Amino acid sequence: MEAIPTAAAASDALAQLERSRAQWSLLDALLRRLVTRLTYAADGRGPALDAALATIRRQVREPVGEAELEPLLTELGEAIKALDEPEAAGGRAPDPLPFTESLSVGQMLLALVDRLKLGDEALDRLEALRQTISDSTDPGTLAVQAEAIATLVNRQCERLTEARDAAERLLKHVTEQLEELAVYLAREDMSHRDGASAREQLDQEVLGEIRELESEVASACELGALQTQVQQRLGAISGHLKNFRQREDAREREWQARTEQMSQRIRELERSAQAMETSLRQERALASTDPLTGVANRLVFEQHIADACLRAARSGAQSSLLVLDIDRFKQINDNFGHAAGDRALRIVAEQLRAGLRSDDLLARYGGEEFVVVLAGVGAEAALRAAESLRRRIESLGFHGQQRPVRITLSCGVTVLRADDSPESAFERADSALYRAKRGGRNRCELA
Ligand code: GH3
Ligand code: MG
Ligand code: MG
Repeated sequence: MEAIPTAAAASDALAQLERSRAQWSLLDALLRRLVTRLTYAADGRGPALDAALATIRRQVREPVGEAELEPLLTELGEAIKALDEPEAAGGRAPDPLPFTESLSVGQMLLALVDRLKLGDEALDRLEALRQTISDSTDPGTLAVQAEAIATLVNRQCERLTEARDAAERLLKHVTEQLEELAVYLAREDMSHRDGASAREQLDQEVLGEIRELESEVASACELGALQTQVQQRLGAISGHLKNFRQREDAREREWQARTEQMSQRIRELERSAQAMETSLRQERALASTDPLTGVANRLVFEQHIADACLRAARSGAQSSLLVLDIDRFKQINDNFGHAAGDRALRIVAEQLRAGLRSDDLLARYGGEEFVVVLAGVGAEAALRAAESLRRRIESLGFHGQQRPVRITLSCGVTVLRADDSPESAFERADSALYRAKRGGRNRCELA
């Protein structure tokens, strides 16, 4: 923020005023000395005048107000008048001052008048003074004129002091406003995407106003006018700030609307992602489930047995495999129809599931054949489990066409070995199943 150039310009103006005031003070001192000298020159011309001159000499040592000067001037005027009327006063006519002395005093006063710069409104007054001093050779009159000049100088000094105070107040005000502006600009949140161009525009507008202000301060010759100009420029700057804030607010609103739109879109996407995940899960379940019986399908079994073989190879973890096949199932289909066969398959699957632990895998391998993987189970427990399943099915009260139908199954059991592949393990269990079939069915064999 370029607050400094304006403050510097106002500070320069203030320094100039201070210099003028100092010059006027010098002039004032000079005039006081001159008045003193004039009063000495006029001494001895009459007792009343001498007394008045002595008072003037005392007074000019200290700054005096008009109120104190007025009676003194009257007194001095009367003393001078008394000198002009010697007969009436009954006194002796005073010796006129030597011509050269009064001339030199008059010239000095004229030179002083020429040095006075009091502005246009005092021109007439100065001209009148100049005239009176040029016309007069009388030291008393010159002394009065010198007093008049001293009063003028005093007033000018006071005016300058007032002007300096006013300029100081103005400078303080301008500095405060610019500081406020700088604080505001520093505090503004400038993180938004197109905030840079709005900021640039504001910078340009404010800098423009400050430059105008600088040139006005530089060329201003009157404090009142300068003050008005400064106020106008500050007003313009706060106007620009107001516009900037309005633009920022509008942008903020637009940004919020866009953000709201975005988050709505994100919510929609989240919903459809959830729906997708659910349908994927359903599809995965469908892909892994046997549609007729609802138990796992062959695909799941193959993954499961492969994992179990890996575990057995790596850590010697025990798992057993059961292959179960419904005995003479073809006859059920043949005697009671395919639908009854399907129903029998569903019931058998349901019973097998009910006879197993939740972490045992039951899958339909194909047709009327099921497989079971028992994790952490050795040969003896596996055979016991197979027996228990066999008995469960044997004791099923299945009916076909209102007639009781006996359903049994045969089972081959094997324990996974460290060097087994899924195929070798299955072959072993299957061969045990074959033995069970050959051995009369409705039985379990361990391989
Ligand atoms: P075994 O005791 O030797 O196993 O005799 P089995 O009759 O059970 O064996 P086989 O392989 O001769 O017959 C299996 C029958 O299972 C043949 C087929 O029609 C029937 N089957 C296979 N899948 C289904 C099915 O999904 N539904 C029905 N209803 N029958 C099926
Ligand atoms: Mg079969
Ligand atoms: Mg069979």
